[in-house]
Amino acid sequence: MLSDIEIAQKAVKKPIIQLAQQSAGIPEDQLEPYGRFKAKISLDYINTLADRPNGKLILVTAISPTPAGEGKTTTTVGLGDGLNHIGKRSIICLREPSLGPVFGMKGGAAGGGMAQVVPMEDINLHFTGDFNAIALANNLLAALIDNHIHHGNSLGFDLRRITWRRVMDINDRALRDMVVGLGGPANGYPRQDHFDIVVASEVMAIFCLATSIADLKHRLSKIVVGYTVDKTPILASDLKAQGAMTALLKDALAPNVVQTLENNLAFVHGGPFANIAHGCNSVLATTTALKLADYVVTEAGFGADLGAEKFFDIKCRKSGLRPSAVVIVATLRALKYHGGVEVKDTPKENLVALEAGLVNLKRHVNNIKNNFGLPCVVAINHRTEDTDAEVEQLKASLAAEGVNVVLARHWAEGGAGAAELARVVVDLCEQPSEFKFLYQDNDSLWDKVHAIATKTYGAADISADKKVRAQIEQLEQNGYGQLPVCIAKTQYSFSTDATLRGAPSGHTVNIREVRLSAGAEFVVMVCGDIMTMPGLPVTPAANAIDVDDSGRIIGLF
Ligand code: ADP
Ligand code: MG
Repeated sequence: MLSDIEIAQKAVKKPIIQLAQQSAGIPEDQLEPYGRFKAKISLDYINTLADRPNGKLILVTAISPTPAGEGKTTTTVGLGDGLNHIGKRSIICLREPSLGPVFGMKGGAAGGGMAQVVPMEDINLHFTGDFNAIALANNLLAALIDNHIHHGNSLGFDLRRITWRRVMDINDRALRDMVVGLGGPANGYPRQDHFDIVVASEVMAIFCLATSIADLKHRLSKIVVGYTVDKTPILASDLKAQGAMTALLKDALAPNVVQTLENNLAFVHGGPFANIAHGCNSVLATTTALKLADYVVTEAGFGADLGAEKFFDIKCRKSGLRPSAVVIVATLRALKYHGGVEVKDTPKENLVALEAGLVNLKRHVNNIKNNFGLPCVVAINHRTEDTDAEVEQLKASLAAEGVNVVLARHWAEGGAGAAELARVVVDLCEQPSEFKFLYQDNDSLWDKVHAIATKTYGAADISADKKVRAQIEQLEQNGYGQLPVCIAKTQYSFSTDATLRGAPSGHTVNIREVRLSAGAEFVVMVCGDIMTMPGLPVTPAANAIDVDDSGRIIGLF
């Protein structure tokens, strides 16, 4: 089997302008080409679509993953191609990859095998420059803060309570904690500062939730960047930052369109972290795709306890999007991992561990059905090492509980390999469903976390020390109590302990820290150690990436 990049480079791509025109009727003059195979769709054109009916929205999520990922992106691409393969007009919506994982451990994020979006190298490296625009807007705000303090600090920043951080889209642990402003009076006031990866920037979350340029600017103006000595919030608007930040972001806000290996349209736009942010592509990409196709398939980050919950309770709540069906991706490898097998041994047949690990998948299925009231299907993302005995046992176990399950072979076979999954999804979309949120806007922040922890994670209770409780109270007094909460915790377990696999229950979820994302309109509840500036591993993926003498990129995976 060829590597992902080798397959992607053999793809016969269609010029994107022509493809977007033919398959979605987007007029040529409403597309801004970035080369021949990438384009942005004009916001003016998007505004003209408002009165069209929406297609059906399908969310792809997953069981709690192994460290390698279980194939949500790959399955999103495969299902999109599968729907087109059975004659349904479908567009997929994905996040833009971050350079952190591309050069670090996990590699690219444009799908895999025969289910990829192309041009794969471009999408993984810089793409249309959106992340650079977001980093610049973020760092402009940081510069305005330090400049304001340098010139007299009339807003009264408490230098120890500046919450805005600088960002860069490279994993670089050396930048996590630092002192800026050293070197004397000409260089400002020394203070402790931090760098996060771009996907962790609140600007990224805002960008992905904004519905228009005006909404983007309004949200940027509401960002809380720090506090005065008496703890009064200071906003980006106090620094008059929102106009210039919007100027940097206005072109980026138009959704990017590319294609799959099978020449079907794909929107790839925005990419917030799934821990301290909500983890899904831009609202503008999803709402636009729904106007242009009958079925839109999109992905949420991490497992369903985090990604799907935030997709529903943050993205759908805020944007009015209403999903029709959910696909839960599982691999036999991850099920065996949840059944107690170490990652390196997961490729070996092990029916006992497989059965034991099913508890993880079943809880995710129950959560989707009962917490959110949506029909769902389990897609077994088939891997070459999977044995027939394992597949049969898994199908039988799930069928016995009335759970829809399909073996999907899109990684090896492309859209044809996901045709059965596509047919099941089309049927699910016709089923009556009663989509609901997990909590109401006017529940207290504490009750919101309690609802998620007890109903989704199987926890018995939540806890927080006095300082954190006081912070939560302060947020409610400042008028932020109506916001949804965004839980930042490990993706490897339903609990806050990454080593507790399967379906742990009865645990207590401790809120360690609270961060306000006032512009993104959610309150981040940090439960456990969360890395917002990852480091590179011993052998970074960057070591294998190269450009041959003909200018072709190699070694990207
Ligand atoms: P996720 O979106 O869940 O993090 P991805 O779709 O990005 O996962 O897949 C993670 C990695 O696994 C990618 O490198 C992809 O090429 C690979 N992969 C996905 N599905 C399969 C499969 N069925 N067989 C082998 N490799 C796969
Ligand atoms: Mg993914």
